[in-house]
Amino acid sequence: MPPPDTPDQKRVAIIGAGWAGLAAAHTLQQKNFKVHVFEQSHTLGGRARKVHSRKLGRTIDNGQHLLIGAYVDTLRLMQELGLNEKKHFLRQALDISSLNQDFRLSIQSTLPAPLNFLYALLRAKGLTFSNKYKLIRALASLKKQKWQIPQAQTVAHWLKQQNQTPFLCQFFWEPLCIATLNTGTNKASMQLFAIVLQQSTDAGKQASDFLIPRVDLSTLWAEKLSHDIAITYGKSIQSIQMTSAGYQINGLDVDAVILATPARQCARIMASLPGSENQPGLMKALQQFNFNPIMTITLELEKNWHLPLPLYLLKTENPQQDPGQWLFMRSRFMNDAHSYRPEITIVISLANEWLAKDKQEIIQRVIEQLERQAPEKIPLPAVTAWDIITEKRATFSAEPGLQRLPNNTAWPGLYLAGDWTDTGFPGVLEGAVKSGQLAARLLTKHLIS
Ligand SMILES: Cc1cc2nc3c(=O)[nH]c(=O)nc-3n(C[C@H](O)[C@H](O)[C@H](O)COP(=O)(O)OP(=O)(O)OC[C@H]3O[C@@H](n4cnc5c(N)ncnc54)[C@H](O)[C@@H]3O)c2cc1C
Repeated sequence: MPPPDTPDQKRVAIIGAGWAGLAAAHTLQQKNFKVHVFEQSHTLGGRARKVHSRKLGRTIDNGQHLLIGAYVDTLRLMQELGLNEKKHFLRQALDISSLNQDFRLSIQSTLPAPLNFLYALLRAKGLTFSNKYKLIRALASLKKQKWQIPQAQTVAHWLKQQNQTPFLCQFFWEPLCIATLNTGTNKASMQLFAIVLQQSTDAGKQASDFLIPRVDLSTLWAEKLSHDIAITYGKSIQSIQMTSAGYQINGLDVDAVILATPARQCARIMASLPGSENQPGLMKALQQFNFNPIMTITLELEKNWHLPLPLYLLKTENPQQDPGQWLFMRSRFMNDAHSYRPEITIVISLANEWLAKDKQEIIQRVIEQLERQAPEKIPLPAVTAWDIITEKRATFSAEPGLQRLPNNTAWPGLYLAGDWTDTGFPGVLEGAVKSGQLAARLLTKHLIS
């Protein structure tokens, strides 16, 4: 139950209970504001949430998420909520190994960053010396430029400029770009990719660590907030009204508001405000985002698949034939894995080509891909059940020249939050959390100044 009101307590509404909205809610609740969250669905977490799979008869995630050690604001927020990192995450040093065992890039050294990454690259399996040299030179040139790239440049353009070989482009850069930006190299913004690369190679020894959640994404931290914050579920807010003292939302009077919905929904809600007709630039900027889908496949297995690592890179030499890009061995890291059959998840980012395909066909292709790429001595066990979750608008397409919006607006006491705001990050969890926290800080300043 949320704590009772105290006189003089300022009231704040947040629309949208994704990671941005909830990070804002937590920050404001700590500042002793009375926070009310409106969420259109019945689950907390937005694009990183739990879902019930009827096919599997249990709770799974809407998509496998991977955090990295550089997500400092997200990890600090979880610490504030009292989360025990070891219990909630499997943390391991960066290790990208292909299931077919022909590639491995693994940080194990005790060296500081970026030397640890350099050493890992030099020891990497599956790259010729000349390719390693080209990779290192490209990264060194980025570092020399302080990871700052002309805004209009695509990743493909940069790769050409850096003289990267077709092998490196196809087997190293393209999979990495799709995995981190959910956008192909020919369209992706090099500036956003440079930020990802900086975090993984040059932001401190543990910044490149992988953190894989051991519990479902709503239980992880979002649901902890529901004890302290008033939440209205199942309410899609279409408009808000300005009042003499602030705003009114669904009959609730508040002093200030954070819109933490996707950009287009923000535009729709703001269109109800006086003066919105004088903000054509803002309204246009909110509509400009394109989105790319991610498909997540869960396969239930007859028995445990005894592969040693928690995740593997899948080879996609022929993307028409090999849909899967990453394999996660969920039974190896989920806390409740003992209570159901062994399961694995396969991620298909930038899944546009697979949207119209028959699901049974996709499953068949994925199984064949795993069978082909599995080590001979550790074959894929029989698949007993499956589910596919498609998030059609998983992340915004991280293209050059996107106008990312600030958190404040022309309306006093009205703020924006979401991974699409001007976070400096692509569409990721850390960006969402940072954005929510910044919106909350701006709102606090507004109300107490
Ligand atoms: C399949 C998948 C895999 C991903 N993998 C990763 C990963 O591995 N690592 C990573 O860092 N990021 C990953 N991401 C991206 C990450 O999930 C997002 O960046 C993040 O969740 C965005 O949070 P948000 O709060 O900005 O937006 P959202 O999560 O979209 O939150 C917006 C909320 O607003 C609600 N809402 C919308 N309209 C209204 C309305 N009118 N009234 C009330 N409520 C409304 C929505 O229901 C939603 O809950 C992945 C995303 C997907 C979909």
